[in-house]
Amino acid sequence: MGVLKTCLKIVGWLPVVFITAVILWSYFAYVVELCIFTVAVDSKSYGLAALFLVCYHVFLIMFLWAYYQTIFTDHPGVPAEFYLTSGEVQRVEAEDRSDLQQEVLKEITRDKALPVYTRTYGGGIRFCHICKIIKPDRCHHCSVCDQCILKMDHHCPWVNNCVGYRNYKFFVLFLMYALLFCLYVAVTTLPFFIQFWKKGLSEQTAADFQTVFLCLLAAMFCLSVIALLCVHIRLTLSNQSTLGDQFQFSCTFSHPFPLFGGGHVCYQCDDSVLHAHQTEFGQSEYFGYVVVYKYH
Ligand SMILES: [Zn+2]
Ligand SMILES: [Zn+2]
Repeated sequence: MGVLKTCLKIVGWLPVVFITAVILWSYFAYVVELCIFTVAVDSKSYGLAALFLVCYHVFLIMFLWAYYQTIFTDHPGVPAEFYLTSGEVQRVEAEDRSDLQQEVLKEITRDKALPVYTRTYGGGIRFCHICKIIKPDRCHHCSVCDQCILKMDHHCPWVNNCVGYRNYKFFVLFLMYALLFCLYVAVTTLPFFIQFWKKGLSEQTAADFQTVFLCLLAAMFCLSVIALLCVHIRLTLSNQSTLGDQFQFSCTFSHPFPLFGGGHVCYQCDDSVLHAHQTEFGQSEYFGYVVVYKYH
């Protein structure tokens, strides 16, 4: 691996390190400064401090779990049948005109009965010249990860990973739990924030300053996360992705994308909201939103 690639890999982790540092500081500000010193020791409100701590840890654990699942989930390789053999690659590369290359690719797709339905804007077979594969539907090549990612949504720098087939559910849950966590922190620190402005500056302690900053930071994160979460809920419900893929031809009810050999195509299915939603969150009525529940 070249020096440049190593440097880029290290730089790629900086946003994750930044988020982790913010979480660690907010843990100290909320748990130690607010709950222990301000609420329990100074105000002698032990019950309230205990309640704050329990709720805080529940939200924090769910948020962290979803966040680190999004980061550390590997992307499965593209199934072997989509890879071109060396002979097939030679056949494609022997043609110097793109329309002739497309004819070869169409022939290979037909011979192998590959279940690909989406086409390029020009109507051609989607082919990755780097990985030498015929791209399955919704598969895209990520230049950062340097591989083709199944059902790629986007490459997210905040998780230093692609958001795709395996971790899209975790990504949406990460946004959802991040919102709940930040909302909880903002609401519970708000009374202390108001109190801060009523007292004189000379009466403030270091804990007061940290609580005020924590409240502002949590409110700011709430606003930025809610916008992103709304976008992804809308995309999920309409069975779309950030990259603009929209699948209109396949029944998504019993076959989460992408469809591989054996998956059937249902031309009657109208891609109802329920079907599209179930491709992301599984078909379980109760466990789809629980981060530990995986369906693929
Ligand atoms: Zn590729
Ligand atoms: Zn990527």
